[in-house]
Amino acid sequence: MFRSLRLGRFFGIDLYVHGTFWLLPLFVLLTGLSAGCSLAAAGAEVGFLFAVFGCVFLHEVGHALAARAYGVGTRDITLYPVGGVASLDRMPEKPGQEIAIALAGPAVNLVIAGALFAGFVGAAFLTPWVPDPDNALDVLGARLMAANLVLTAFNLLPVFPMDGGRVLRAALATRLTRVRATEVAAGVGAVAAGVFLVAGLVLPHFGLVLLAAVVWLLGQAELAGVRARAAAAEWEAAAPPAADGYTGLVWDETRRVWVQYRDGRVVGVIDPEE
Ligand SMILES: [Zn+2]
Repeated sequence: MFRSLRLGRFFGIDLYVHGTFWLLPLFVLLTGLSAGCSLAAAGAEVGFLFAVFGCVFLHEVGHALAARAYGVGTRDITLYPVGGVASLDRMPEKPGQEIAIALAGPAVNLVIAGALFAGFVGAAFLTPWVPDPDNALDVLGARLMAANLVLTAFNLLPVFPMDGGRVLRAALATRLTRVRATEVAAGVGAVAAGVFLVAGLVLPHFGLVLLAAVVWLLGQAELAGVRARAAAAEWEAAAPPAADGYTGLVWDETRRVWVQYRDGRVVGVIDPEE
């Protein structure tokens, strides 16, 4: 039931929609109907939701194209009920590149909002025109513009692993080690997740509770990944040298373990006492 559906390939990147995503339009439709809306009005709300997620997709494309500019590929883009994820092959460790990639997503939403605003101003300039509250297209455009401004501001919150949090981590990494910078950014993210959780329970707002869980879980998972990679790199740097392309075991006298090589690279260690 929760498998991802492949919608197609855009900009050379596969777009998937996660199975849980469909709970969101279903929720919007049922909320509308239970509030006494007509089926057409509730359906229009679902249409607006899809338009917003089209903008979320373009936001992820922004990240992917910025990453491509630094030679980093993107495996796929997947849409979840809480937002989109562009799966980059790796995150460049140069702070400037990470900041550029992180800012490219919110920049897309800002451009969309600006384009819609320019469209409104242009239409008003050409004809004596004001947005007509009874014109569905005008209302859609105005709401989409507002949604893109919210997406821009929201993603720029310094809450790791959201975009603003990545900018914070990269900025910290210019002065601290990458592990320490990620620990600080993930700590700020965890505090923000706590605030989202309390706000979500007080209001109550299920979306905020879900966001708190996602921010906390993904932040901690990414922190663990950064720590593991740093530990592996440290290990590799300290491992005894092996011939180019060597595959096999080398005894490390100082740490009293066998170091396992494949094609000249350290792939693991074997502790004979374990
Ligand atoms: Zn983003």
